[in-house]
Amino acid sequence: MIEHRVDAAKAVPAKAPGQRQKPDRTEEPDWGEAYRVYRLLQEIVLAWQAENASNFRGPRRRPAADVREEYDDLRCEPESRAKSRVEAEEDRNGAAERPYFTLDRLPEKSVIELWHQLDAASGQQCGSEETVRRFEQFKATGTLTEADMLGRLRLAFAGVARLARRQYSAEELEAAGHRWPRPICPVCGEQSPLSLVLPPVGKRHLFCRVCGHEWAGKRVSCILCGSELAKDQTYLRSESYPGVEIVICQTCGEYFKEFDARERWVDDWVWEDIRTLPLDYAAEKWLADLRRKDGNRH
Ligand SMILES: [Zn+2]
Ligand SMILES: [Zn+2]
Repeated sequence: MIEHRVDAAKAVPAKAPGQRQKPDRTEEPDWGEAYRVYRLLQEIVLAWQAENASNFRGPRRRPAADVREEYDDLRCEPESRAKSRVEAEEDRNGAAERPYFTLDRLPEKSVIELWHQLDAASGQQCGSEETVRRFEQFKATGTLTEADMLGRLRLAFAGVARLARRQYSAEELEAAGHRWPRPICPVCGEQSPLSLVLPPVGKRHLFCRVCGHEWAGKRVSCILCGSELAKDQTYLRSESYPGVEIVICQTCGEYFKEFDARERWVDDWVWEDIRTLPLDYAAEKWLADLRRKDGNRH
């Protein structure tokens, strides 16, 4: 299955020929401080969830037919991506399961409230009205100029999405996980999950960083495009990060991260994803290098 195995450190272009290749020092964040801030914000999210759990009303699941049209507009897949036969078949017979909700259907009041609390804890002194104004700005443009605030807004969306996910029964969540063929979370509709390889036999699960949903995935394929061409998949590993692999797929030109929980189990995969960001940098450099080489060849 593994055609190429490359050490992540070697995939990073050297600053000078002959030098040992390492990720750029400036890209190494201060993990101690980053973790402290991460934990602080997580505590606020957890407290907000505990306080609101009993009276929270999130979006209810709607019939697939209702959601389809709306969701087709929201789905941010590359336009050029041709529908697979399976997808086309699903659309024809109307059996396609759409996500139970999308982030824009979460109660805004809750998102704004949690965001405001996260901002306040981070020393961002702005009033509730200002938070609402910025939220409107985000809705209109899809972004914010202040990267920190945007990061905390994403955290607020995730905090509310996790609460919304808890409204569904175990059966509903189980059903959501089995019918979705694409890397879109079957509960909240967000893309690019993490891949987890679970003990004892190495089953692959996909894990949504936003709502925390986990569902079974195919073991041997690119989780992003479904390609099963082993020769198109390159694995990057680094000794500094045991149990983590970057899988680069040359069919779709993207990469994803895979955590082997048999080798290293952690309780918080979201933090594990953040902590291993240097591997993402390595993958991006590796891909850029590959594109450059390909460019030179043509
Ligand atoms: Zn999700
Ligand atoms: Zn792919």
